Order: sequence, then C-alpha cells, then structure tokens
Amino acid sequence: MKGRVIQSTGKWYTVQIDSGDEILSSLPGKFRMNDYDRTNPIAVGDWVEVDLLDDGSGRISEIHERTNAVMREATHGKRGSQMIAANVDLAVVVQSLLEPEFKPGFTDRFLVTCEAYGITPLIIINKTDLAGKNAKAYLDDTIELYRSIGYDILPCSVKNPELIDAVREHISGNTCVFIGPSGVGKSSILNAIDPEAGQSIGQISEWSKKGKHTTTYAKLVPLNCGGSIVDTPGIREFGLFDIEPEEIDQCFPEFEPFRNDCRFNNCLHIDEPGCKVTEAFDNGIISATRYRSYINIVDSLRNPTR
Ligand code: GDP
Ligand code: ZN
Repeated sequence: MKGRVIQSTGKWYTVQIDSGDEILSSLPGKFRMNDYDRTNPIAVGDWVEVDLLDDGSGRISEIHERTNAVMREATHGKRGSQMIAANVDLAVVVQSLLEPEFKPGFTDRFLVTCEAYGITPLIIINKTDLAGKNAKAYLDDTIELYRSIGYDILPCSVKNPELIDAVREHISGNTCVFIGPSGVGKSSILNAIDPEAGQSIGQISEWSKKGKHTTTYAKLVPLNCGGSIVDTPGIREFGLFDIEPEEIDQCFPEFEPFRNDCRFNNCLHIDEPGCKVTEAFDNGIISATRYRSYINIVDSLRNPTR
C-alpha cells in the first residue's frame, strides 16, 4: 500500500494511506545501513510502500523517490546531515515589518537555501498594520524588489482578513514549512488561517521546549484549506547545509544574466577585476541589500566560526 509519512518519532513512523487510516510503521534496518551520511533515512513527507502485519502495525518496504528534502546539519555531535522533511511544495519565510523589523539578511539566506534544495519559496511580511508612512514606503520597495527577481511575496496582518485570505489561498493544497524568527507572528498567522492546525502546532512547540526527543520528532499537520504544515523543532531556523561558496551565485537569480560573463570563470564576484556582477551592482541593476546578503553568505561559508 502506498502512503505518506505524517509523523516521525525517530523509531516509529505514522503512515497515512489513501483511506485516511494511519498505520504505525517500523522501518527495517537495511534502510538505515545504505546511507550512512544521514542520521535518518526517512522523514515526514516521504511517500512509502507499507506492508500490513498481523498485529496491525506496518512495515515500510520502499521509499519513493523524493522531489526534494530539507536538510540540516546533524546535532549532538553526530556526523553528516539530518533530513527534516521531504517532498515539500512551499517554504514560507515569515518576517514582520516592525516589532521585530524585517531582516533582509535572514530572508536572503532562506531564499538561497530554497534555491539549493529546489523548494519554492514564499515571503510573508507580517504586522503591516503597525506601519507608519516610512515603514509603508519600505514595505512597498521591498515587495517590488523581491517580485522583480521573481519571488512571491505577500504583505500580511492578522488584523486584516483579506490579507489572511490571500495567504491561505497561496498555501492551500501545498505541503508547507513555516520559517522565521520568533515573535514575527507565525503562530498567529497559522491560527488565523486554521485555528485547529494552529493549536496543534502550538502544542508541538510547547512540548519541544521541554527538551527531550527534540531532534527526531516531526509531524505533518493537515490544513482545512487542503495541504499541510510540516512542524518539527528546529525547522524554523533551517540553515545552509552542504553548499560551497562558489555555488551561492547560482542561488541569486538576478545574477544570472551577468555571472557567466566575468573575466574569470571562478569569479566569486567580490573584488575580482572584470566582474560583471559587481559592475551590475555598481550600476544599480543589482540591489545593494541583495548584494550585501550575497557577500555575507559567501563570507560566512568561507570563514565558518560556528
Ligand atoms: P511567533 O513566535 O512567530 O509564532 O509569533 P506569535 O504568533 O507568537 O506573535 C508574536 C506577537 O506578535 C504576539 O504578541 C502577537 O499577538 C503579535 N502579532 C502577531 N501577528 C500580528 C500582526 O499581524 N499585527 C500585530 N500588530 N501584532 C501581531
Ligand atoms: Zn564576477
């Protein structure tokens, strides 16, 4: 039977089959052997084949090919990477315009990760109700900037039903992750979109704050508008994994028309002579905040201090 992994505790997996039934399933050891770089061979969001055993539990016999996987570096001194979700349709970065204010660096790092993982991003700027004149102008500029690059970006306020509807419409039917610093309104937005899902996710984060099991527990929370939210501790700060500094320029779509025309084919677009990307930045074609984010990301990968 085909089904989807909707919950993982690290040892047992809940697989939901077509009928909607949930089968608590184990994973034979052979799946753990063949990919030793990863601490877990399977994640929520995976599509699997499951055999039903006499005692009513299931045994996963096959993992279907993934369209993508959200990874992070393994924690607790384990080697390699941890897969936190698979087959994600949409990664939503939530930031607020004010309280706390919008951080382009965080957003751009998130977008780079999405480009690298092959996940479609959506940017939400929340708390637009707090904006005065200056903040409104900044909001408009920011929306225009990201749209001009080709990214989806939506203003949002939990006090504005129309904006909430637009967010709901955009995410409905998708398997989503919500990412963002704390205090920007992620829980509030989820509650506004779907109170039941919002509550369920609130419980998971409360529970995870208590410590234990935090690295392996993950769940797909269904949305009443269709689709689901992936929730797992730590997913809200998913970072760059396994990306080389030389690959970052491919994750800035607006560099595309320039990056292959630099004098040196290994140009990092920082201070090399004959660099067409820095030229485009000097001419105002590439935005200063985006270029600064690029430099910061390349820098942090070349000089890891963590
Ligand atoms: P999370 O940590 O990202 O889940 O953020 P919360 O949903 O807990 O929200 C943090 C604070 O921001 C709470 O006090 C919310 O009431 C407030 N908040 C959330 N969304 C909005 C909004 O659209 N406008 C305003 N003014 N406050 C908001
Ligand atoms: Zn260059």
